Amino acid sequence: MPKILLVEDNEMNRDMLSRRLLRKGYQVVLAVDGQSGVEMAQTQAPDLILIDMSLPVLDGWEATRRLKAVAATKHIPVIALTAHAMSGDREKALEAGCDDYDTKPVELLRLLGKIEALLSGNGGEMASSGNPTS
Ligand SMILES: [Mg+2]
Repeated sequence: MPKILLVEDNEMNRDMLSRRLLRKGYQVVLAVDGQSGVEMAQTQAPDLILIDMSLPVLDGWEATRRLKAVAATKHIPVIALTAHAMSGDREKALEAGCDDYDTKPVELLRLLGKIEALLSGNGGEMASSGNPTS
């Protein structure tokens, strides 16, 4: 089964979402801040990354920029999660290199649809915005 790296500093959100993903059959690895998220992406080679934008040490935007700047991790699809539904966040996530975007609280079926689309290579909502697929 695909391995998902979940980067989330809020313990309750992290536990809840990881349990739901495990129940769906995904392997889940966890990081609690942006810096360890970047490191885990390199050591764990996940198939997809779910990353909260509001994180300690490195925020989600900076962590994603770093993930997308190196050959070892730039191909891994990244879905940004944020509590802020403001339209500007979407552009900010795209600029940082995120492949898709979802808002919290997570609606599991909607998020699973985005995860499955990216894992199957069909891209996220942002796939048509010029994000390289190789
Ligand atoms: Mg947070």
